Amino acid sequence: MPNPAIDYSELLNSIAEELKPYHGKGQQATYIPELANRNPDKYGVSLAFLNGDGYTYGDSEERFSIQSISKIFTTAAAFSIRGNALWERVGVEPSGTPFNSLVQLEYEEGKPRNPFINAGAIVVADVLLSELSDPYQGMLDYVRELSRCEDIQYDEQVAASEFDTGYRNASLAFLLKSFDNLENDPKDVLDLYFHFCSIEMSCTELAHASHLFVRRSKLDCKIPDLSTSQLKRLNALMQTCGFYDESGEFAFTVGLPGKSGVGGGIVAVHPDVYGAAVWSPRLNERGNSILGMKTLELLTSKSEMSIF
Ligand code: GLU
Repeated sequence: MPNPAIDYSELLNSIAEELKPYHGKGQQATYIPELANRNPDKYGVSLAFLNGDGYTYGDSEERFSIQSISKIFTTAAAFSIRGNALWERVGVEPSGTPFNSLVQLEYEEGKPRNPFINAGAIVVADVLLSELSDPYQGMLDYVRELSRCEDIQYDEQVAASEFDTGYRNASLAFLLKSFDNLENDPKDVLDLYFHFCSIEMSCTELAHASHLFVRRSKLDCKIPDLSTSQLKRLNALMQTCGFYDESGEFAFTVGLPGKSGVGGGIVAVHPDVYGAAVWSPRLNERGNSILGMKTLELLTSKSEMSIF
């Protein structure tokens, strides 16, 4: 429940004001050519409590490329379908290496450390390619149902742009195949993975969709509901692995499970209470949104709404 003593709209305004010195710091991701031309100075925040109360600031309704935030939804889907068998192919340990590292995958013989680094998410995409009759439509239906927005789409230009230039992800997929950890053709898996990354959603849509992890929900789609125990495990993974090699820092400063993406978005959840999403494309050197992290740090500190 929201704390009745706090005016959350006012809180979001004051956080934005306090963070003005950080505006313009950092760089947006340019390694995906299609993302390089976007306005880096967008800033949106959306806070969605489980009781239905919602608060927003700035560009909260504008859609952006969710990129790796998609990994929490695809992992949830694959886990709900395959159950614990998923963890035979993907681990549950923080990687401590960049999200697209090849070295660790080689010396750990093709089993990615966790589903939130690219290698792990490529295995997850492979599972969904095997399991869903139309995995492209199936994942769209899932995020549409979660966010209650029927017109969420893939950005075909972003997906194509990554397919054309994602040499590292292609290397990961072929390495996974060489270790027999892909069931399908690596090129088909990559196309699906890049599409998942290209999904466009707004902060408010993401904040609603994040309720998947806030409390057990009954969904009307082909992907099964998660059990309480599965929710616990997914939140634990977000807490320990959601922020590339900066997951410890996020736990330390924000104190919530969450996931970031190189489009500048971050989703964070407080189990049983609320979900939040922030968007600001300028990233730090670890690939996380500078303003996004600062916003969530101030939000959980000022409102005392972290899990610790
Ligand atoms: N599509 C991006 C990639 O695979 C996702 C990266 C991210 O958001 O972490 O490189």
